[in-house]
Amino acid sequence: MGFLEELRAYPEERVREWVDRSTEADVLRALERIEDREPRDFAALLSPAAVPHLEAMAQQAHRLTRWHFGRTIGLYAPIYISNICGADCTYCGYAVRSGNRERRRTLTDAELRVECEALASRGFQSVLLLTGEAPRAVSPAQIAHAVSIAYEHFPSVSVEVYALDQDEYAMLEEHGVDGVTLYMETYHPETYQRVHLKGKKKEYGYRLDALERAGRAGARRLGVGALLGLFDWRIDGFWTILHARYLQRVCWQSAVSMSFPRLLHVPERFHVPHLLTDKELVQLILAARLCLPEAGFYLSTRERAAFRDRLIPLGVTMMSAGSSTRPGGYAIYGEETLEQFEIEDDRSPEVVAEVIRRAGYDPVWKDFDRAFQGIQASVAE
Ligand code: SF4
Repeated sequence: MGFLEELRAYPEERVREWVDRSTEADVLRALERIEDREPRDFAALLSPAAVPHLEAMAQQAHRLTRWHFGRTIGLYAPIYISNICGADCTYCGYAVRSGNRERRRTLTDAELRVECEALASRGFQSVLLLTGEAPRAVSPAQIAHAVSIAYEHFPSVSVEVYALDQDEYAMLEEHGVDGVTLYMETYHPETYQRVHLKGKKKEYGYRLDALERAGRAGARRLGVGALLGLFDWRIDGFWTILHARYLQRVCWQSAVSMSFPRLLHVPERFHVPHLLTDKELVQLILAARLCLPEAGFYLSTRERAAFRDRLIPLGVTMMSAGSSTRPGGYAIYGEETLEQFEIEDDRSPEVVAEVIRRAGYDPVWKDFDRAFQGIQASVAE
């Protein structure tokens, strides 16, 4: 049974009814059931009834994160290998019909090496390679080749690229990739169809199964996420947690993580239909932590610096820093190339690391999972 079958057991109407009808007693019961929370508990923790209990949720989220990850926050940086995209996702600056006229570019091998060297010299040991959906500009074999170049510079290389077949994920594995991140954007099928107008990305089912294919191909880490703002965050949040739990079960050899990308800056033609407030995003992160105690949580520079700093003790385990969302943005083209989205936190990696230290955490530049395994070993001794 694939995830689609499981998802069908939790249609929008059922989840919405659970969320809307959750009572304080449901929330308190969910808070008490620390081990193995069930889907009803996810809904209660995501519900309006949980809002008066955010402090208790925060305390538990903090304890769970400390228990599983210690006092560490991993640092990583994205590298965009191309901003060419044949898909038309209405919310994205790279979309073929976004109206953007800035320069589109695919990095050459030499340019990618320059970008890698720039990030390695800043201390990064963990990077995420990204590209638009344009297999003719950047084929799966070219992505694999880019992974092997990045692997010359960093011990940990993950990808966030278009959905691939299982044998293509296996090829990435052979070239050294250890993580695959792929946001479903929204799990709500009608909304999904409305915002994805062109390209293979239109195929909801193919995208939904992609992470499972990556897991079966041997990916050591799998990253889920919904693009927050496309649909009701309480419902999409529920489905994202469900997806993460499913992957933990069927791809038990992979570590599953979750990201919280919130739509803030979008192309002119797009209006964010379900804007999230800071408080709502905090509730989602806390609820997710309580339901996924062992999952790494990623927070990108899409969020404001001060807000990111406040989230450090609440469940986040990985933060990007000093990011550019343009190909060649670190050392070659500056701001000449088209960016995917505007970043909010433009502090340098050194400043972010210092903020993490001042919050009482260790910034970890190396492969976070390996560091985490070290912590587990020392706890077991
Ligand atoms: S979200 Fe991805 S696939 Fe869609 S337009 Fe942007 S880069 Fe292309």
